[in-house]
Amino acid sequence: MSTETERPASETGHEDIHDVIIVGSGPAGYTAAVYTSRAALNPLMFASSVEAGGELMNTTDVENYPGFPEGVMGPDLMEHFEKQASRFGTRIEFEDVAALELSGDIKKVTIASGETYQARTIILSTGSAYRELGLKDEKRLSGHGVSWCATCDGFFFKDQDIAVIGGGDSAMEEALFLTKFAKSVTIVHRRDSLRASKIMQDRAFGNPKINFVWNSEVTGMSGDAKVSGISLKNNLTGDESELAVTGVFVAIGNDPRVDLVKGQLDLTSEGTIAVQAPSSKTSLPGVFAAGDVVDPTYRQAITAAGTGCIAAIDVEHYLASLPGGAPGQTVPVEEAATV
Ligand code: NAP
Repeated sequence: MSTETERPASETGHEDIHDVIIVGSGPAGYTAAVYTSRAALNPLMFASSVEAGGELMNTTDVENYPGFPEGVMGPDLMEHFEKQASRFGTRIEFEDVAALELSGDIKKVTIASGETYQARTIILSTGSAYRELGLKDEKRLSGHGVSWCATCDGFFFKDQDIAVIGGGDSAMEEALFLTKFAKSVTIVHRRDSLRASKIMQDRAFGNPKINFVWNSEVTGMSGDAKVSGISLKNNLTGDESELAVTGVFVAIGNDPRVDLVKGQLDLTSEGTIAVQAPSSKTSLPGVFAAGDVVDPTYRQAITAAGTGCIAAIDVEHYLASLPGGAPGQTVPVEEAATV
């Protein structure tokens, strides 16, 4: 059914009712797109204007994504995902979703321009956002020495002394990447042992440019136009000290992006969207969620992709259960192979 007619974007309503709209374009969103497009559900994906591709766009080598024995760069992997989803007909719009109305049989998606779209099902794969330390001067100095992305900003810190905050894989990865440019990298961690995987720990310990400050929290950031140092407090002794650095990379994990669904969907105590595991069903019929936005534990590209696949299959089953039956038709493998 297509009842949509040519109208200026200022008249905001699109009357087409899509079978599925996917919100978010990391490994979960793109995998859901590959599966739903191969099921002839003509998915419409809102991939975001600045966050398209998700967290892997800010990653360098991905060594643990199966199928790439030599590893693959994060942005290259996401380009593969996008091409594969496009190949089967996913319509990808690099737009930001501003609001969702998820109750009722027909869901409404409003994008930043004000245009609205309708769908029988929604797959939420909005991922997660960098966590902040919550310090007074953090926002003010963001972009002036404080960063959340070494691959984006590392180049600007040639021959400088840099601090990386955090003890997980992200912190190790950021620190190792920064050693290509920096004079020194100091990892500040709040405990005396790292959360990072053994292989990443070993690499960090083995890098002569990397130092560690253990059991310490950052209590402040100084600098007028640009960062000049951070204040530290030892959690065991209470001792306070200053570390002179001109760059601070914050790598303390991520929080699920749930702003669009707060008050509409049940969330877990960890703040992720609650799903009826192992399915991707949320607390509202026709609304499914996948990837980091549902996962407080594993948070790997491959697990996100796996739940994206689950969401796509859940959508197929849900649509088939509606009065009128299955709208989509799976593209036979032989046919798909010739696309
Ligand atoms: P993470 O594993 O949750 O680690 C966050 C780190 O930041 C922890 O060491 C934590 O300390 C610390 N932290 C959290 N809040 C803090 C605060 N307010 N102040 C100071 N420190 C704080 O997050 P992640 O490193 O971003 O990794 C997320 C997931 O992605 C993990 O599953 C990881 O394996 C995966 N990942 C994998 C790779 C790779 O394989 N190459 C690369 C990046 C990420 P505590 O340890 O004390 O809790």
